[in-house]
Amino acid sequence: MTNLSTHIFYSPNKIILGMEAASNVSDELSKLGGGRVLLVTDPGVVQAGLISQIENFLKSNSLDYVLYDAVEPEPPDGVIDRGAEIFKSEDCGLVLGIGGGSSLDVAKGISILATNSGKILDFCGIDCVPRKGAPLLLMPTTSGTGSEVTRVLVLTDEKQNVKNVVFTPHILADVAIVDPALTLSMPPRVTADTGMDAMVHAIETYVSMNATVFSDVLAERAIELIARYLPIAWAKGSNLEARYQMSAAATVAGLAFGSGGLGAVHALAYPLGTEYHMTHGRTNAIMLPHIMKFNLSGNPAKYARIAELMGQDINGYSMYEAAAMAVDAVKELLDTIKVSYNLSDYDIPTKDLPKLVDGGMKQARLFVPNPRDLIREDVESIYEGAY
Ligand code: NAD
Repeated sequence: MTNLSTHIFYSPNKIILGMEAASNVSDELSKLGGGRVLLVTDPGVVQAGLISQIENFLKSNSLDYVLYDAVEPEPPDGVIDRGAEIFKSEDCGLVLGIGGGSSLDVAKGISILATNSGKILDFCGIDCVPRKGAPLLLMPTTSGTGSEVTRVLVLTDEKQNVKNVVFTPHILADVAIVDPALTLSMPPRVTADTGMDAMVHAIETYVSMNATVFSDVLAERAIELIARYLPIAWAKGSNLEARYQMSAAATVAGLAFGSGGLGAVHALAYPLGTEYHMTHGRTNAIMLPHIMKFNLSGNPAKYARIAELMGQDINGYSMYEAAAMAVDAVKELLDTIKVSYNLSDYDIPTKDLPKLVDGGMKQARLFVPNPRDLIREDVESIYEGAY
């Protein structure tokens, strides 16, 4: 199946990837101009010792900055609005986001609120932001979301208790610095959850109805790298090769889904995050094998290729048999990194099923690019299968 529609490929102006690439931060900020920097991060990243290192780079180059380290996971809209108030009251000119997807997304939000008046919830949806944001430099410390290269930010609408997105090219970073050394301090659980998030991006976009020639090339490479290096990075966090390849893969997967879009895994994972406060990566990981099993008939050739990319020997098997081997490969990977894909292991009572189904149906926009159509009964039976 070839997607014949016109594609636009978006990416940041500049991506710098490499061990110790973080040392470029002052230079890159100076080139962007704009004066005082608002450094956006979360307390966990500060505790991991990553911010003091960056502050030293800024100080030794006499760059003036203000620290905003109040980011919360799956960031509530208020965290972005408060950051934007500080950006203005402290007379900042640039935003530097350092951390996992939560910190990078808050940085993106602050950047657009610096140049567009309103609260962040006013800009949710597709292309609802009139003006480009303040200059933006993003540095991931997890290898998962790919937020450093995407034109989307994800927030939690506190009042509605649902995830929402701001989708606009105006939040693309001017510069993304991807330094795998910043990910070395991730504990195994964070490595596993965020690594699986990257895998979900790659697989979902690869089988998406909106897949493009760009997303295909990038997703294939990301799937291959993550299948090979995630177990190693999980087992031995100090393994530089594994950390490097995972950082590269997560960024590449981000570029892929920025072009090809996502699907039903994200739709059915979101309610698990908002209802039970599980991490985004973990909820995606739980739903992945169940949605893949459901989706197989929608694109068996691509699922067969996923099996192959994940190291399965598909020679001698029919396309449908090979496609099913992709589900086995994903389950094997999840078992290896100790991520359960059974909802019953997460203390989620079965009586909550209708609530989950309602939550999944609220994300039905993500069913459109999914390779197999879903109706409410399908959503119900997928969650049931996940117990
Ligand atoms: P996160 O940013 O929420 O961080 C998870 C935890 O890991 C935090 O406690 C953090 O302090 C800690 N941490 C981060 N880096 C660390 C390091 N190097 N060492 C030790 N601890 C570290 O997690 P995430 O999975 O990276 O981001 C999730 C968020 O990103 C969600 O809100 C999700 O919806 C969003 N997201 C955004 C995009 C996008 O393109 N904008 C894509 C996917 C997901």
